[in-house]
Amino acid sequence: MYLRFGKHFAFGIFALSPALLVAQSNAPVAAIAVMPAVRAAMASLARDNAWTIDQQIALCEIPAPPFKESARALAFRDQLIALGVQQVRIDTEGNVIGEVRGTRPGPTVLLSGHLDTVFPEGTDVKVKRTGTRLTAPGISDDCRGLAVTLAVTRTLLTSKIPFAGRVLIVGTVGEEGAGNLRGVRAIFRSALKDSIAVFLSVDGTGTSITNGGVGSNRYRVHYMGPGGHSYEAFGMPSPIHALGRAIAKIANLEASISPKVTFNVGVVSGGTSVNSIANNGTMDIDLRSESATALAAIDQQLQTALLQALNEERARWPQSSVPLTMKIDTIGLRAAGRTADTSYVVRTALAVSTAMHVVSPLVTSSTDANIAMSLGIPALMLPAGGSSHGEHSLQEWYDDGVDGFKGPQWVLLLVLSLVGAH
Ligand SMILES: [Zn+2]
Repeated sequence: MYLRFGKHFAFGIFALSPALLVAQSNAPVAAIAVMPAVRAAMASLARDNAWTIDQQIALCEIPAPPFKESARALAFRDQLIALGVQQVRIDTEGNVIGEVRGTRPGPTVLLSGHLDTVFPEGTDVKVKRTGTRLTAPGISDDCRGLAVTLAVTRTLLTSKIPFAGRVLIVGTVGEEGAGNLRGVRAIFRSALKDSIAVFLSVDGTGTSITNGGVGSNRYRVHYMGPGGHSYEAFGMPSPIHALGRAIAKIANLEASISPKVTFNVGVVSGGTSVNSIANNGTMDIDLRSESATALAAIDQQLQTALLQALNEERARWPQSSVPLTMKIDTIGLRAAGRTADTSYVVRTALAVSTAMHVVSPLVTSSTDANIAMSLGIPALMLPAGGSSHGEHSLQEWYDDGVDGFKGPQWVLLLVLSLVGAH
């Protein structure tokens, strides 16, 4: 990651990567935290907590099913415009992008939340409020992240704390499941790519910091044949029997514990009736690891197992001339990656936690940050404060507790530390 040369950083220190430029130019977090203007900004986030919660509820009540995030994107865009963010636009993939510029040249830090949810059209997204607890699908994942992103943006603009560089404010599409990180992929294909020194995604509650990106390879595997009557046509290869052979092999794959490797057949389907040899057998497979090498190794084992199952089912019926074929569709690829525990960005984030008197374990997850990590760009998924439960379920809740505002305060202090408040 230290060999990148962003063109936005050629301000006389052109031999340094964006990340190193950040590291060498900034005041320590503790010094930034006690600046009067920063203290005032932190206090305003606590004082205006109701505004943050209002944003969270308003965005959550706009449905954002997979691939249908545009209504929520428009609301997020309008809020950025209302706050005075510059260069607000929606890119061709559907991401909302704007920027807050500092007072002098410096690094670009991208701060984002994701717009999409896992919930299909028609899901009731009305938020129910009981005390500090909000219940609705998506209220935590990731309406909390979007609301914190807005609160930090608003504070950057109103507090007028001088800082170097710029903060890109982004609402991404396609973070969940089949979206396959399409929003963030588009950003890192765009002209913005070379300027991004640090990628931050606010996605998750509590205080842990995600600096490891779990990689995943997902496939839909089809075994196919003509099928036939279970009695009359007996003696031909069966796609479902081939599928069963494959699943048995997958179930017996060796998976390392460290680095963690996992495999799962999550969905199976096929066949037409109990007295028919099936004409197809299909399964969805998910392989994961925090290590790209280990993921590639288990993937190789999977491919071998799938082919062996096909050949064994064909060999079971040597007299049959009926074809049995296999097709593998890739339904998701997320590269693994890591922002080193010893990197400047992780050390800065931990210093922010110290300054905020919170404990932040470093954890591994699968998020928008994966793409940046896999490209060697320092990236973190940040905690948004509060607490939550039941993400991806209809019972999902977020509780702001007595100090949910510490989430946006934490993110603001990190952003100011990375761009270099002065
Ligand atoms: Zn999320």
